[in-house]
Amino acid sequence: MFTALVLRKDESGPHLAIEEVEDDRLPEGEVTVAVRHSTLNYKDGLCLTAQGGLVRSFPHVPGIDFAGIVEESSDPRWKPGDAVILTGWRVGETRWGGYATRARVRADWLVRLPEGMDLRRSMAIGTAGLTAMLALMALEDHGLMPGQGPVLVTGAAGGVGSIALALLARAGHEAVAVTGRPDQEAYLRSLGASRIVPRGELDHTVPKPLESETWAGCIDAVGGAMLARILGQLRHGASVAAVGNAGGLTVPASIIPFLLRGVNLLGIDSAQAPIPRREAAWTRLARDLDPALIDSMTQTATLADLPALAPAILRGAVRGRVVVDL
Ligand code: NAP
Repeated sequence: MFTALVLRKDESGPHLAIEEVEDDRLPEGEVTVAVRHSTLNYKDGLCLTAQGGLVRSFPHVPGIDFAGIVEESSDPRWKPGDAVILTGWRVGETRWGGYATRARVRADWLVRLPEGMDLRRSMAIGTAGLTAMLALMALEDHGLMPGQGPVLVTGAAGGVGSIALALLARAGHEAVAVTGRPDQEAYLRSLGASRIVPRGELDHTVPKPLESETWAGCIDAVGGAMLARILGQLRHGASVAAVGNAGGLTVPASIIPFLLRGVNLLGIDSAQAPIPRREAAWTRLARDLDPALIDSMTQTATLADLPALAPAILRGAVRGRVVVDL
């Protein structure tokens, strides 16, 4: 038996309850993991509330990330006692996920806990932090170097945004935070933001397709009109790593910044990122993120807290990261 947060759905809507579940309900997979910590990402908010069409089969155990210790493995790459991380691969969406004391997944999907990191901090990072790292790596692959100018982070007080700020500052960039929460200025500066831009300055389009060449790069968790606006403010040849859609799915953009300034729009998909890319990202996260800074952006929760936290993250009211202790 194991303990899980189970999502059921009936005519009256979705319901969450903590239940004791038989082991034979675990999905197919080569590796069984004793989950120690999970986390809360924006996508978890959607799954927990059965929104966005991500969860199609009920009863379901959400939780798109987990970290824990291998209990059993039929794959020679993993043995009992190994400390492992799972993020993405649609675990917690189409398969049972990490809001449980036990999970079973494919051996191909796991990443070894990097040296110098503990399981709890790996979930303080989670999909949000992995994605921020993949976004920075993509910007660097497209030529971003420190000293080129300010790099914008949108949705800055959220999970991806908080870690993106910390990573950019650590890499020597002038990180600029866009936020709708001006009361979080001290927090954002503590993570490394050199300047704060109020959300209201950027969350609408303007008739001009090109504005002053301002940003050397951007990690964008918001999408929508803000992304369209930022494209017209990028410096020549600069890139936006498009990570999220917290502000909208439709991007009402002009083609002109691409044609006259050679800007790039880089898509980031952490859920299907290949394992070698993930390993490189996790190694760098372990090396570059100050543990005290991770702790300063993280709150702790239990399974019982998740039904209330889910709507909060969807309305942009969760600051930084949440670790779920199992
Ligand atoms: P989060 O913690 O909720 O952060 C999102 C932030 O966006 C909020 O904290 C808020 O920041 C801002 N925001 C919220 N609503 C907004 C609105 N209507 N207009 C403008 N800004 C708004 O969520 P997260 O886990 O960091 O995820 C952020 C986004 O990235 C989500 O869309 C998520 O689905 C996506 N994501 C994608 C990947 C991938 O692989 N591509 C991976 C992880 C996450 P401020 O209060 O500072 O403005």
